[in-house]
Amino acid sequence: MENEPKEERPSAHSLIRGVVDACADCDICRFLMEDCCLFFPELYRLYDREREQGVPPAVEELDRLADMCTLCGLCPCANIRTDIIRSKRARAHERGFPIGVRLLADVQGAGRLGGRFPKLINTVLQVDPAAKAAKRFAGISQKRNLPKLPAEDFFSWAKRKNLTQKPDRVPAAAYFAGCTAGYLFPGVAKAAVKILEKNGLPVYVPRQQCCGMPTLLEGMESLMRTRVQKNLSFLLEAADAGFDLVTTCPTCGFFMKILLREGAHYSQAYQDAAGAGANEIRLPRTGSGKDGHTFLQKSIYGKILRDNPNFTGIDPLARIRLSEALLDMGEYLMRIHREGRFDTNLGRRDQRLAYFAPCHQRQQNIGSPYEELLGFVPGLEILRIGGSMDCCGMGGSLGFKKHFHDASVRLGQPLAEKIKGASPEAIVTDCLSCRLQFQHLLPSLPVFHPLEIIAAAYKL
Ligand code: SF4
Ligand code: SF4
Repeated sequence: MENEPKEERPSAHSLIRGVVDACADCDICRFLMEDCCLFFPELYRLYDREREQGVPPAVEELDRLADMCTLCGLCPCANIRTDIIRSKRARAHERGFPIGVRLLADVQGAGRLGGRFPKLINTVLQVDPAAKAAKRFAGISQKRNLPKLPAEDFFSWAKRKNLTQKPDRVPAAAYFAGCTAGYLFPGVAKAAVKILEKNGLPVYVPRQQCCGMPTLLEGMESLMRTRVQKNLSFLLEAADAGFDLVTTCPTCGFFMKILLREGAHYSQAYQDAAGAGANEIRLPRTGSGKDGHTFLQKSIYGKILRDNPNFTGIDPLARIRLSEALLDMGEYLMRIHREGRFDTNLGRRDQRLAYFAPCHQRQQNIGSPYEELLGFVPGLEILRIGGSMDCCGMGGSLGFKKHFHDASVRLGQPLAEKIKGASPEAIVTDCLSCRLQFQHLLPSLPVFHPLEIIAAAYKL
């Protein structure tokens, strides 16, 4: 069924059970992750029940537990997250995918299909029984509104504007839009293009696939691998041609900058490239290894430090190169600013805005570039809402699933209350999944990407 890499494949049950036992033994996340994650409270509930009443978690309960992880990256152990994903992959191999999972995880497929007949689909879905039937078919909660499709998606617009042709000069930016901006919120992607052009940077929109995050999250291994391989080839070709790679999506950025490189430095390919000796493991001292390496003894650590099994077979050197080349758009604009190339001639906007930095941006360790950029707009009052453990609760498509809607709302409610308490005129966040959740929880407040605010301040 799947194009399976050669790797020992334990059962879904044993993998997730192993996570329960490891985290119960450690216990750190019992309190640490109590308010910002659905997974750990449920893990400890199941574990405590087993210990106190002798009722072990049933297979369905373990399945549901695995589904509660949205790979937000907030918990401390990457190997635990890897095993949760491995358990979903193993489950897919053992039992296949329900149709609803396929539909929700394949944002690219749904976006391309919907983009052919957006008017028709929007009209049909305005009819209540049709919307209800569509949600039932896809396993979507009846309490969620389906987002409206734009008349034209970003990729068609980019083609029409000739952005899919390489500009003939560098510096220029190669822009990875991601599916949500590409198919649902093209205004965000267009704002990104216009801001780059305003700052003297021609924009190239290379061929691109879904980053792979939704498919990884659901254990759709074959599709995830195909898309990652294609993106590696398209994006690295653009990087080799001298383009600066940027993305406006914090989840795509987290996937390609952080997740894809996890464990890649332990691979034999990297060790060979770094010139490691027979009993050495060489690891970059900082970032890329340009600043030298630290050394570990292979005979001690060689069996523990392994490449991430979720990416086995995908060239580790290419994964490292992409993770080093790609920048978040906020990070990129701040770099341009430091080089004196960012046009700070922005028009006045007297507005009080609540800014939420999404978890996948926080996990990239890039500071808070959008807060700094918004600070260049005269008149704006920016209220930073939410700390390091605050979560909107949406978790990609989790909040859309009928079995998780209520839990998703419960998780996001404290953050929504904090936003409401600050009485802003609008919400600003760079995550479009958070945007969908805020639109659901706080429907009276408009939600923007920071780039939309900056583009408006430029009067673009
Ligand atoms: S994720 Fe890591 S720190 Fe948290 S409980 Fe599990 S083993 Fe401990
Ligand atoms: S990655 Fe996020 S959702 Fe998954 S277990 Fe860790 S904190 Fe919870």
